[in-house]
This record gives sequence, C-alpha cells and structure tokens, in this order.
Amino acid sequence: MTTAYFSFQQHFTHDTGDDHPEHAMRILAIEQELKKRGLWEQLDIRDGQTANEPDILRAHSPGYVEQLQLIQPQQGHIYVDEDTPMSAGSLDAARYSVGTCTLALDQLMKNEFNNAFVAVRPPGHHAEHRKSMGFCFFNNIAITALRAAEVHHLQRIAILDFDAHQGNGTIDILKNDPRFLMLSSFQHPFFPYTHYQDNKYSNLINVHLDAGSGSVEFRSKIDDLWGPALRGFAPELILVSAGFDAHRDDPMAELCLLDDDYRWMGDWIRAYAAPRHLPVLAILEGGYDLNALGRSVSEFIATMLRRD
Ligand SMILES: [Zn+2]
Repeated sequence: MTTAYFSFQQHFTHDTGDDHPEHAMRILAIEQELKKRGLWEQLDIRDGQTANEPDILRAHSPGYVEQLQLIQPQQGHIYVDEDTPMSAGSLDAARYSVGTCTLALDQLMKNEFNNAFVAVRPPGHHAEHRKSMGFCFFNNIAITALRAAEVHHLQRIAILDFDAHQGNGTIDILKNDPRFLMLSSFQHPFFPYTHYQDNKYSNLINVHLDAGSGSVEFRSKIDDLWGPALRGFAPELILVSAGFDAHRDDPMAELCLLDDDYRWMGDWIRAYAAPRHLPVLAILEGGYDLNALGRSVSEFIATMLRRD
C-alpha cells in the first residue's frame, strides 16, 4: 500500500514573471510543508516525463497546439489571454505537466502504488479544446481521463474538481461523454464566467458556492449533490482536479474553506475509494497563498497515506 508523489524540475522553465500568482514557489511550498510534517518520507517520490503528442491531441485540436508553438516567445513574455503569460520554456513545462500525469496514470494502472498526487504547473483545468485560459495551456486532467478510457479501456471515470474556479476546459472537452462523470464545486458567479457554469450536461454536476461560503455549505453540498451521483456512476477510476484556492487565506477567490476542509475532502474520497480498491489520481490545479497551499495539500495527502 503506497502513495506516489510526482513532480518535475522542468516546471521552473515556465517563467510567469515577477508579479504573477502562479509561480514555481508553489511547488516548493508544498514540498517544504510535506517534509516539515514527516509526510515526505512516507511517499514514493517519483519524477515526471514529457508528453506524448497523441495524448495531447485527444483533447486539443492540432491547429491549437501548432498555434501555441508558433506564438511562444524566444525571450520575455507574451500573454495568451489576459491572465496567462507564456515564456520561452512554458510549453516545455506544459508538456511535462501532461506527461507526468499520464505517466502517473500508467503506473497506477499497473498497481505500482495505490494512489498518487501529481504536483504540476502549469495547471490545466481551464484549457479548452482550442483555447488557453486562466494560467492553463493543456488540460492535464482531461488528457489523463481520455488516455484512461482509450489506452487502458476504462469505461467509467469520475473527475472531481474542488478548485474555487470551475474547470470549464475539462467540461468543454468531456461534456456529454458517458464514459466520464464530472463533479465540480466552485464559487458562483465567478471566473471563468463561461456558459458551462449554468449549462446542463448529462455527465456534469455543478455545485455552486456563494462568495463567503465556508465549511458547512461546502461539506453539505458535496455530500448531497456529489455523493449520490458518484455512487450511482460506480467509477473504475477517480481523477481529482485538486485546486486549493477555495481556502480562506487564498487571494484568488472569496470562499472560506479551512485546512481541515481539505482533510475532510480527502477523507470523503477515501471513504468511497478505499473499500472498493479504486485507484485515485489527484492533479494539482490552483492554490496561491503559499502557506495555505502547503498546509492544505499536506492535509489532503495525509488522507491518501492513511491505511486504516
Ligand atoms: Zn482556481
């Protein structure tokens, strides 16, 4: 029984500039806190790899990938949308994000460990089929889900996303595909303000959280709205868009979750997955207050490590 933790050095090449909230210190803050709590030694630490192009092309159009390559600057930054800076190394890092998630999936499917947390940047859940958005270029979790379905032949894959911002990109790519159930909770109304926040799809459960919502609202809505849908779907694999920016201390949203809510969320997933021997793969999305991020991820990973 083991939990793997994946990261990779190539994320340092994704330089977002001096004042951007999504920066390399986020990964360092997570790893520092895991070490401080004695969790690091309990994890199976693994390195990442770059992506296979066919994996990316299951989720994104060839023209979109080619266009990103063409606009990538040789030096300095360009902005691919108002929030998303791209530097000379950004696509290399984005390909490593994808490749590390798919590597973790392949190893999880071979039972090399029981569950895994993948600390990637850039994140992915806002990236749509043909569009970069919200710090994201390639949709790591949608690409991983499509590989699980098409390479590993899984028929039911649940995607849980508790980031403060809705994973519009994941929905754009996987909507109405019965192989995937998407359970999403997010501040509403809020960025990314796409039509996916209110639209009804056969494989999507949206949980809206008012600004200022805290533990009580979050936990009761997850129990009431995600619980029955997850049990009814009976997934063979659980993928998690693990964003930690709904924390009270996070500057990028107006929700009020506490460290213990991430322990609760991890336990909630574990309570479903462990008795059924379901593999769980969690992929980092948001989380921008370094202290809250380190603590929240550590609370979440501690539940993955529990064996009782
Ligand atoms: Zn977010």
